[in-house]
Amino acid sequence: MNVPELFGSMVFNESAMQEYLPQDTYEALKRTVAEGLPLDLAVANVVAKGMKDWALERGATHYTHWFHPLTSTTAEKHNSFITPVGDGRVVMEFSGSQLVKGESDASSFPSGGLRATFEARGYTAWDPTSYAFVREGTLYIPTAFCSHSGESLDLKTPLLRSMEALSQNARRILSLFGHDSHITTTVGPEQEYFLVDREYYERRKDLTYTGRTLFGAAPPKAQELDDHYYGFIKTRVSSYMRDLNEELWKLGILAKTEHNEVAPGQHELAPIFTTTNLATDHNQLTMEIMRKVAKRHDMACLLHEKPFAGVNGSGKHVNWSMATVDGVNLFAPGSSPAQNAQFLLLLAAVIKAVDTHQDLLRISVASAGNDRRLGQKEAPPAIISMYIGEELEAILEAIVMRKQYNPQCPGELRVGVDALPVFPRDSTDRNRTSPFAFTGDKFEFRMPGSAQAISEPVTVLNTIVADILGRFAEELEQAEDFEAALNDLIRNTIAAHRRILFSGNGYDTSWVKEAEERGLMNLPTTADALPHLTTPKNIALFEKHGIYSKEELFARQEILLENYCKLLRIEASTMVEMAWRDILPAVVGYGRELAETIGAKKAVAPALACGAETALLDEVSTLSDTAHVRLNALQNAIAAGGALETYGSPAAARHFCTVVIPAMDALRETVDRLEVRTGKPWWPYPSYGKLIYLH
Ligand code: ADP
Ligand code: MG
Repeated sequence: MNVPELFGSMVFNESAMQEYLPQDTYEALKRTVAEGLPLDLAVANVVAKGMKDWALERGATHYTHWFHPLTSTTAEKHNSFITPVGDGRVVMEFSGSQLVKGESDASSFPSGGLRATFEARGYTAWDPTSYAFVREGTLYIPTAFCSHSGESLDLKTPLLRSMEALSQNARRILSLFGHDSHITTTVGPEQEYFLVDREYYERRKDLTYTGRTLFGAAPPKAQELDDHYYGFIKTRVSSYMRDLNEELWKLGILAKTEHNEVAPGQHELAPIFTTTNLATDHNQLTMEIMRKVAKRHDMACLLHEKPFAGVNGSGKHVNWSMATVDGVNLFAPGSSPAQNAQFLLLLAAVIKAVDTHQDLLRISVASAGNDRRLGQKEAPPAIISMYIGEELEAILEAIVMRKQYNPQCPGELRVGVDALPVFPRDSTDRNRTSPFAFTGDKFEFRMPGSAQAISEPVTVLNTIVADILGRFAEELEQAEDFEAALNDLIRNTIAAHRRILFSGNGYDTSWVKEAEERGLMNLPTTADALPHLTTPKNIALFEKHGIYSKEELFARQEILLENYCKLLRIEASTMVEMAWRDILPAVVGYGRELAETIGAKKAVAPALACGAETALLDEVSTLSDTAHVRLNALQNAIAAGGALETYGSPAAARHFCTVVIPAMDALRETVDRLEVRTGKPWWPYPSYGKLIYLH
């Protein structure tokens, strides 16, 4: 495999554009992208032609506007390039207007309240900041998806708006330090996943319908021995990884590291970071391709946050930073006083943003699946806090207290006057239990779940940091003595928000209490978190920066609540079906076998010992009765959740959270006990042991 040649070969990237577009068109396109202007139709026509020629050479017959609706997947509708020419033949055509804008029926995608108020029609608009690519005979054009009156109906539009807001506000700060540059945010998402054998996967309704096991007794050995993390990669898995890398590289995705994770059967893939918009598209593609390639290898790729109870779940660490267009990382602590002043100011902004908007960060990772992972001693708790490393924390402390930081640093540490004391870089990455850690020159948000799109957490991060930077800029732009104002601003900000800094063990239960004493928010479940999305603070924030209008925000909230309830209903209904149709019949059959054995033995000789059969029959019968009762209780709980139309409300979410989930867990508890008491030939599903130990 010639990787450099393969890499990006299916992407209409800069070099493809240079080859397939006339020089003036290429330059006009670049200018449009850089300035965020709408594309001139004449230019679009030329771009479309070049793009089509390039795509045809790569076997494309169709094109699609590719978008991210408010579900967890992407959407596409394929159109072929064929155009009849009148004599029974066709030519392959693609116009600028087809490239730039597509009509789309919005009525089948979630739109919250917006659908009622506005027309059902929507449109997709080309996002030229993300590259088009060819996959499986189709030219994919990344687009944003909006209603006809301009409301966003996707994840991309708010993301792009948040990038713009961040750039504008960060630029104001940078200009105070004498620099001028467009600012982008960079993201590197580390994707965790499980691989299971396809045959076993297909034999389990819970996995095929919901992506996680809803029943399943713990195997005698799981991850206790810590022998999987970074362990030897099995041949079957490494051939999967090779195939996956090849697919990803063709699409210009910078798949870089791969290793085994903590749980057996669990792995991780991390790309090299890139600009937010591309990273988001790439992560969506990565997840999709992971699933497809697994199928080719007779496996199933599980992206669910908690596929197995008792075994670590999967997260997606979102590494985030800010950079200038020339790629200068703004969170790299510099060595001169001026660089450090800028670094400390930006750091203070992030600290303030995270503390002020704990609710939004929590909401951005809220899902029924992630609720099963957060706070379970394997992932950060649902409480937001920030870890910046002891050295950096001591430096901030010295600034607040107007003290010297250490003996080498005489006198008071003055921002912008003194150079920042050098601190070892690896000192910042010691605490893996923190939900939000500064790791040397970037932040690592460790709460996102493996299945979710990264656009939501990144949109929130961009917006909250943009907001604080804007406030800082306002204060500093008016200052008469910049240096004094800067010192005061940093000092006051840290003093006011240091409660968010926590370097202890986030997995420890004592932290919950301490966090409460510090006044930090604890929103353990999605049902607790989502109602906060539309508080006056959050409406004002998103409206101020043009990320979501009030209507869009309410619509988002409704969709998120609805998704949560629907997903839980699917899980609960799957359990009900599995229990009625497979599990109870299996256990009844096993009980009959035991009873018949006891009867047969007694017929041979009444004194024959059948203590084991009798005790087993008794236990299985008692457990079956309990399972039956709990099954009925679960059915009633689902029914009490009301009609689907009401699922978008906080009350419905609360019902699913506090009534349906406990009923699910209760049924599972009994069934898992039954599993280990039921003879193997009778049990209808492959065991955990078979699933997590890929052969
Ligand atoms: P780990 O968290 O496993 O120690 P690394 O430190 O190697 O992993 O990096 C994790 C991810 O962070 C990678 O995807 C990497 O590209 C990304 N990353 C590194 N620098 C930045 C940056 N400046 N902005 C965004 N992401 C970054
Ligand atoms: Mg990491």
